[in-house]
Amino acid sequence: LLQDERLQELLRMHPRNLVVDLAREELDATRARLRAGTLDQPDLIAGVVDRARALVELPLRPVINATGVVIHTNLGRAPLSAAAIRAMAGVADGYSNLEFDLVEGTRGSRHDLVSPMLTRLTGADDAVVVNNCAAALLLILSTFARDGSVVVSRGELVEIGGGVRIPDVLAQSGARLVEVGTTNRTYAADFERAIDQQTRLLLRVHTSNFRVVGFVHSPSTNDLAELAASLGLLLVDDLGSGALLDTARFGLAREPMVQESVAAGADLVCFSGDKLLGGPQAGIIVGRRDPIGRLKREPMLRAIRPDKATLAALGATLGHYVQGEAERELPVWRMIGASAEEIGRRASSITTGLDGWDVLDGESAIGGGSLPGETLPTRLIAAPMHIPPRQLLARLRSRHPAVVGRVEHDRAVFDLRTVPPELDTTLGEALTEAACGS
Ligand SMILES: *Cc1c(COP(=O)(O)O)cnc(C)c1O
Repeated sequence: LLQDERLQELLRMHPRNLVVDLAREELDATRARLRAGTLDQPDLIAGVVDRARALVELPLRPVINATGVVIHTNLGRAPLSAAAIRAMAGVADGYSNLEFDLVEGTRGSRHDLVSPMLTRLTGADDAVVVNNCAAALLLILSTFARDGSVVVSRGELVEIGGGVRIPDVLAQSGARLVEVGTTNRTYAADFERAIDQQTRLLLRVHTSNFRVVGFVHSPSTNDLAELAASLGLLLVDDLGSGALLDTARFGLAREPMVQESVAAGADLVCFSGDKLLGGPQAGIIVGRRDPIGRLKREPMLRAIRPDKATLAALGATLGHYVQGEAERELPVWRMIGASAEEIGRRASSITTGLDGWDVLDGESAIGGGSLPGETLPTRLIAAPMHIPPRQLLARLRSRHPAVVGRVEHDRAVFDLRTVPPELDTTLGEALTEAACGS
């Protein structure tokens, strides 16, 4: 095999033992498939070349998200602002004051870097940042409730996604779960009755990815905060997305805001950095001085602390809110704020002159466990009816950058809400080329 001209070329680019290994792997795989009768025309050389390419290709590839789902968890959630990217790059290629006090010249704490911004924005006393909101919840529960129980409404025992479920996170932390109320209706009195010597905290979990409508009730944060305070317990509010801007301004339902939860008296509030905040993956905990202080001393924090690039990007993201420019600078809010007319104009300029392509009315979703069922009116680029949508989408996914769209009414459709306008030309070319191959 190694005598083949194409493998000789591979040998000039890669170490010999790597090419030999790949050739052996391809031979083994081909034998197995021939034996199983699932292959009739083996092409060993092409197989080895493909293996080499797949191995050296960067595993994480850029994707043009034309699904219209703004916070798409499978596609990496929030795109970062230009300032956040600069901040990340600025600390990536050298050293930084990650744990160094530049005034005193002594050891500092990474946990103090973004706290001043977080307290200003949310009204909380203090803050601590970890790797994601699931880790934040685990840290809180294992710090405060390891040896006791946690009271949660039955209507809020949610599965967040990726198989993470609130009862499992509780079990992992060592806390015992006490469920109160019913799926649709829970009152503060239900919490009160369930509290005993073992109770360590009351937990509220935002039902971020589904909605229960009709005959429903849940106690207000205020009521639960009063109850918790009167008994010396903590109230923890897991907001998930945790918006700092009011989503109602964009014609959407109201996503609970972090500053409201703090004002209503929650002792600890946790939320993600890469959902509606529009920053890097992170779990942010804000709240009262004492419980945050205890979290900072907890050994588990060491295992889930954020890295310098995350803190740099988070600092820049929060800076946009402090400066009152979040809507303009953060891609997530720019995408949510884009009007259907604007998106329609961009869509038309791509489809003009293309045979069989249409611009249709449609809906974009927020996604990422935020505002379930809520959509924004949009305009979709629809591929010609005669092109089988799944084939077209597969061809688009294999490109660099890959393009991801969706199928609606048996047509491949593309929503420019989640495409940065500077990529419109690239997307237009990708669509026409992929359609030509159909
Ligand atoms: C998304 C979500 C989480 C998990 O956040 P990650 O940052 O993805 O770990 C936790 N709780 C709720 C209510 C959520 O919506």
